[in-house]
Amino acid sequence: MPTRKVVIIGSGPAGYTAAIYAARANLAPLMFTGLQSGGQLMLTTLVENYPGFVDGIDGPVLMETMRKQAERFGTDMIAEDVASVDFSTRPFTLQAEGATYQADTVIIATGASAKMLGLAEERELMGRGVSTCATCDGFFFKDQNIMVVGGGDSAMEEALYLSRLGRKVDVVHRRDSLRASKIMQERAAKNPRINFLLDSVVDAIGDTKAGKVTSVDVRNLKTGQVTTHLVDGLFIAIGHVPNTALFRGQLELLPNDYIKVVPGTTQTSVPGVFAAGDVADHTFRQAATAAGTGCMAALEAERFLEALQR
Ligand SMILES: Cc1cc2nc3c(=O)[nH]c(=O)nc-3n(C[C@H](O)[C@H](O)[C@H](O)COP(=O)(O)OP(=O)(O)OC[C@H]3O[C@@H](n4cnc5c(N)ncnc54)[C@H](O)[C@@H]3O)c2cc1C
Repeated sequence: MPTRKVVIIGSGPAGYTAAIYAARANLAPLMFTGLQSGGQLMLTTLVENYPGFVDGIDGPVLMETMRKQAERFGTDMIAEDVASVDFSTRPFTLQAEGATYQADTVIIATGASAKMLGLAEERELMGRGVSTCATCDGFFFKDQNIMVVGGGDSAMEEALYLSRLGRKVDVVHRRDSLRASKIMQERAAKNPRINFLLDSVVDAIGDTKAGKVTSVDVRNLKTGQVTTHLVDGLFIAIGHVPNTALFRGQLELLPNDYIKVVPGTTQTSVPGVFAAGDVADHTFRQAATAAGTGCMAALEAERFLEALQR
């Protein structure tokens, strides 16, 4: 197979935006969409904060639109996961489904996955009251009852953000003390709308029949007592895992396993390999920022290829 100028791994907002820019620059990109084609927004319903849609747009519809736009300019797509990469020499080598591909530049846009509780009803109610992103979905729960699960800094951040919107915010944490930094704990503890349910876990989420979250059963681990709380929005804030296992040993990763990039760029530790979207962003994790860095990655890949020709 001929060496491709640009190979993109991942088909979330970062991957599709990179594809649109690379294709319009005549670089004929090849995209591995991955098995979760469309990425994380396929898991949600209404997206109201992606610019350009006055009344919001359903996540899957937005991603289908991005896919069509990337295809329109000539992006080739393969609906497979990349199984391994070799970035030690250029052209770089990628393996997928037993076939080998070569590329002068690679744009990694494999995203991150939110850690979940592991309850059966959780996936079913995702985007229907269950969320992993307060910035994304908090607005839907204005003046309603909200529950946050987690005890780290990001759980406190989510709870504080949601306390500005919801009627009350219960924070459920499995231990008797929080993992969050002292300053975040103090801020949350001072907030009259935030209430803590410590030594507790979520046992069940209702109501899959109604197709939305209406209640959460919380079990106290010390007493064994289960209490049903009337809840409209359940935010799971127990961390994210960047999809970087594939790149371990090939690229420099941060201690939290996100890809390390040169600040203000998408350049990784390997010249010619770029990282865009959530896979290199443990701070913002938004569709708009993913699209923005996808654009940057394509422009940087284009400049890298130009420099090779000089
Ligand atoms: C339920 C939910 C609701 C959300 N709501 C909003 C919202 O309202 N507004 C907002 O701005 N953000 C929202 N977000 C966050 C937003 O979805 C992410 O910030 C965004 O999708 C990140 O885009 P990305 O392109 O970096 O990666 P992702 O969307 O995570 O896509 C990653 C892609 O990489 C692919 N991939 C992974 N591994 C491989 C591999 N080995 N080979 C090939 N492909 C691979 C996957 O198949 C997938 O296509 C939400 C997230 C969730 C989970």
